[in-house]
Amino acid sequence: MRTPTASELLQLWEDSAARTSAERALALLALAVPELGHAGAAYCSIGGRDDMLLALRERLFGDELVSVVDCPACGEAVETRWRAGQLRTGLAGEAPAPLEWTDGQVRVAFRLPTTADLLALPPHGSPATIRRLLLERCIESSDALSPGAAVQPQDLPEPVLDALEQAMAAADPMADIDIALSCPACGHRWDVGFDIVSFLWAELHAWAQRLLLDVHKLARAYGWSEEQILALSPGRRMLYVEMSAS
Ligand SMILES: [Zn+2]
Repeated sequence: MRTPTASELLQLWEDSAARTSAERALALLALAVPELGHAGAAYCSIGGRDDMLLALRERLFGDELVSVVDCPACGEAVETRWRAGQLRTGLAGEAPAPLEWTDGQVRVAFRLPTTADLLALPPHGSPATIRRLLLERCIESSDALSPGAAVQPQDLPEPVLDALEQAMAAADPMADIDIALSCPACGHRWDVGFDIVSFLWAELHAWAQRLLLDVHKLARAYGWSEEQILALSPGRRMLYVEMSAS
């Protein structure tokens, strides 16, 4: 993994503004882990992908993640802090392992979802339709162990799909992270989902806006080009911004 330059990140931020979350994840990995290649990043498990994005986040903004969420019971703003290292699995970039599930009537061979699966889903559709399409994509084969059992992926009944979904969550716990919160004001406890792609994107967005403001101030004060200003280290840039204001 390499640390992208300020100029590369700014270009990615601009190019990916209108892209989906899955596309942004692949664009970030193409910059940070070029040796993985597009296919390698697209076809690793979501947990394996997010492990690499957490490592990238550590490089760009440090290990500590801070989030502020309103308490659903009393509305108090609750700040939570945790470490990126706690969420990492060490499965960075690994292809999904083959999995198998059976209830004695049907045997299903399947794998974990990948970013390529997410990109192949229709952009619009009900959550139920999207869920079924995603599960069907991940089924490698299904065999009837007793006569009359449904075997085509599209014919598998809901309880089987539920069981496959649970088996996937158990095999790739980092693909769906919940953070436990408790409200200091009223004592309410609840879980919030954590998605590293949207979290990192929000941070990049704020970073890009701050950076462009610095470029604006320094270009006006010293007449330097955007390229020259982006080539400065963050520490020097900050000092020049402070000096230009005095
Ligand atoms: Zn509360």
